[in-house]
Amino acid sequence: MPFEFQGKHVTVAGLGVSGVPAAKVLHGLGARVTVVNDGADERARAQAAELEALGITVRLGDGDTLPDGTELIVTAPGWKPTKPLFTAAGQAGVPVWGDVELAWRLRRPDSAPWLAVTGTNGKTTTVQMLASILKAAGLRTAAVGNIGVSLLDAVTGDEEYDVLAVELSSYQLHWAPSLRAHSAAVLNLAPDHLDWHGSMEAYAADKGRIYEGNHIACVYNVADKATEDLVREADVEEGCRAIGFTLGSPAPSQLGVVDGILVDRAFVENRHKNAQELAEVSDVNPPAPHNIANALAAAALARAFGVPAAAVRDGLRAFTPDAHRIAHVADVDGVAYVDDSKATNTHATEASLAAYESIVWIAGGLAKGATFDELVAGAAKRLRGAVLIGADRALIREALARHAPEVPVVDLDRTDTGAMLQAVQEARRLARPGDTVLLAPACASMDMFTNYNQRGDAFARAVRELGA
Ligand code: ADP
Repeated sequence: MPFEFQGKHVTVAGLGVSGVPAAKVLHGLGARVTVVNDGADERARAQAAELEALGITVRLGDGDTLPDGTELIVTAPGWKPTKPLFTAAGQAGVPVWGDVELAWRLRRPDSAPWLAVTGTNGKTTTVQMLASILKAAGLRTAAVGNIGVSLLDAVTGDEEYDVLAVELSSYQLHWAPSLRAHSAAVLNLAPDHLDWHGSMEAYAADKGRIYEGNHIACVYNVADKATEDLVREADVEEGCRAIGFTLGSPAPSQLGVVDGILVDRAFVENRHKNAQELAEVSDVNPPAPHNIANALAAAALARAFGVPAAAVRDGLRAFTPDAHRIAHVADVDGVAYVDDSKATNTHATEASLAAYESIVWIAGGLAKGATFDELVAGAAKRLRGAVLIGADRALIREALARHAPEVPVVDLDRTDTGAMLQAVQEARRLARPGDTVLLAPACASMDMFTNYNQRGDAFARAVRELGA
């Protein structure tokens, strides 16, 4: 149902990436917009000045008071549901939408359907693979969400699309009650952001919202039962199917792998007898197990949209991953150096470590409350050695001592700009020909670097110095 914004008093909670464009769009639709923001730093003041010049009211330094007369709140996705602003909104019966809900409500009646992806890890990669496949099928599309084009631009801009490949975080899903995707996938579920959601159950429930009202397919991970449970709990359109993806041989209504071939036993005629070959494992870049799972999820969504098998293969071949995601930097003296700086939690690192046989592991940074016992115990057999960096490295060192006492460990007690170079030199010393030196820190980077990009760049630079 179209929402009438003209004359409505809308409060936008939070300046920044989503708040500023949301305020402008709402103002353009005739709403009376007030923006509230916790901080009042230089950037916020500059953004406020820009909005005030348009006639939008901005209150800096007070994100907790509900402005009088508010009829709707549009919040930045990161704002915690427990904030006093939302308690006040609840008491006053004021609805709260996130940026995704706003985009969903603003789309035109004939606008492109959404193929949506969430999960603890692999979202960006999968959405980009999906967009690449859809493009290979000749469809007008874009990867949107946390990446590339913003969702709001995609639905309100002039560019026309046939279908959108949409990445959604658990925060965004929390605040998107009326979103109804054509088809959606939950890639995996591991504990993450629990401080925000309050519990694992609440986190899973927010992820599960992506399946609500799906029309054609709910895509789940056969190896991760929690994702299948979410499909079962979802209220979907009549005829919507549950489609599994697996690294094993697929059952009917699944996509999987047989003898190095990605095959579809879901979107084929007579799926009990037939299977459709989609692509070869070697068409997936990089062909690490978790990335093949991402490719299968992307393929399932594309096939749900009616894309032919050849476009899946062509789209996967055309796809190159973003930087710092299992990026092969160089081979030096028969040792491969791989940058997976984006592996900032243990679940991602587990996938990364599973992709190589014999590894010198560079890890550490800010643990964000994580524990490392399970990760280290699972990877112990594959570790030639470990080089630890960063603030919380002792946690990893202790886990190594408990579960992999025979693995040599170098503990680097320095955080200056030369630390990564030394880490790479130590890793080289431990490695033998055929090994992989893998930067997969299982931690955030901000104790030593601005972000994971800078950490990965420092690694690549250090590797190039070895080869020089
Ligand atoms: P997200 O957008 O969910 O953060 P990315 O595609 O950017 O995901 O990948 C983030 C990291 O997660 C990568 O560096 C990789 O190590 C890991 N990863 C990617 N896909 C998966 C997966 N399916 N399962 C587990 N880990 C994964």
